[in-house]
Amino acid sequence: MSRFLSTRYSSLLPYTPGEQPQDKSYIKLNTNENPFPPSPDVLEALSRKEAEALDLYPDPQSRRLCAAIAAFYGVGEQQVMVTNGSDETLAFAFLAFCGQDKGVCFPDITYGFYPVYAELFKIDYKEIPLNADYAIDPADYYNAGRTIFLANPNAPTGMALSSAQIEEILKRNPDDLVVIDEAYIDFGGESTIPLLKRYDNLLVIQTFSKSRSLAGMRLGAAIGSPALIEDMNKMKFSFNPYNVNRLANAAGAAAMEDTAYFRRCVDIIMENRAWTAQALQSLGFTVLPSCANFVFAKPAGMSGEAYYKKLKERGILVRHFSKERIRDYVRITIGTKEQVQALITETKALLEEA
Ligand SMILES: *Cc1c(COP(=O)(O)O)cnc(C)c1O
Repeated sequence: MSRFLSTRYSSLLPYTPGEQPQDKSYIKLNTNENPFPPSPDVLEALSRKEAEALDLYPDPQSRRLCAAIAAFYGVGEQQVMVTNGSDETLAFAFLAFCGQDKGVCFPDITYGFYPVYAELFKIDYKEIPLNADYAIDPADYYNAGRTIFLANPNAPTGMALSSAQIEEILKRNPDDLVVIDEAYIDFGGESTIPLLKRYDNLLVIQTFSKSRSLAGMRLGAAIGSPALIEDMNKMKFSFNPYNVNRLANAAGAAAMEDTAYFRRCVDIIMENRAWTAQALQSLGFTVLPSCANFVFAKPAGMSGEAYYKKLKERGILVRHFSKERIRDYVRITIGTKEQVQALITETKALLEEA
C-alpha cells in the first residue's frame, strides 16, 4: 500500500477471481466459463471491417445490441442497457439504488462481489444466512427495508428459487428494489423477465460470459422498467459512456441472434451436468441440486481443499472457497463430456490412492 491511498480504502478487500493460470494447460473447471467457443456468427461479426472502424468510438447506447436483447426477451428497447461485463452492471445497480439512505441485503453465501461493492461504495449491508440445506428462504427477504440482491440460481450452490418464490419477494417489498442476477438462468432456472410486466421494483441482470461463451469479450446487461434503465444509464454516462466497445457490440448482437447454437450448447451442458452429478454421487459425494453450469459437491472422506489440491496436481482446476460454511465443498464447472469424464477418472484414481 502506498502512503497515498485514501484512508477510506485502507481496509478494502478486493474480489478474488478464480485462477487463470498462463503457465501450463489445465482442464479448467474453475471459473464457470463455457467449454464451447462462441457461435460461428460471432466470429463472422468480428470482421476486418469492424476492426478497421476501431479508430472511431462505439455507439454509446449500443442500440443494435440492445435491440437484439430486447427482441430475444420480448421487451422494449428502452428496457435494456449493456455494460462491460455484468460485474459492471452490478456496480451501477449498487451505485444507483443503494446509498446513505438505503442499505442492501443478500445471502451470506452468494456471489463474492456483492460484499466487495457494498464495501467499495460504503453501503450498509446485511448478510442473511442460507438455510441449513443451503437454500434461500424467500420469507427472510419479506419487508426487507433494503435493496435486495439475489443471484438466481445462486452461486456457488447452483440452487434456484422459482419465479413464484421471487414474485412473492417482489410483492412483499413494494417500496424496495429487488435485483435478480441471472448469470446462470439459462441452464435450467426460470427467468423473472416476464414479471417485469407486473412489477416496477424488479431489475434483472444477465451476462454473456456463461451461456453465450463470451467471457473474454466482457458483456453484461440490465433489463428493467424504462425508468430503472434511465437511472442505470445515469450511472453509465457519469462513469464511462463507451464501456462497451465496437467489437463487443457486434459480437454480442450476433451471439444473441444465433438462438439455435445457444440452445445446443446449453442443452449439452445440462446433459453433462446430470451425468457428472450422478457419477460424483456414486463415488460418495454430496452434490447440491444445480440449475447452473456447475455443481457444488462435497467429497467423502477428504476435505474440500485436499480434493482441490489433488485434482490440481492431476491437471484439473476446480474452485475451492475457504469460507467456513462451504469449505468442505468444491465448485466444479461443467465442461465438455471429455472434460467431465477426465474429472471422474482422476477422482476415482485419487480416491483409490487415499
Ligand atoms: C460470473 C458471474 C457474474 C459476472 O460475470 P461477468 O463476466 O462480469 O459478466 C455475475 N454474477 C454472478 C453470480 C456470476 O457468477
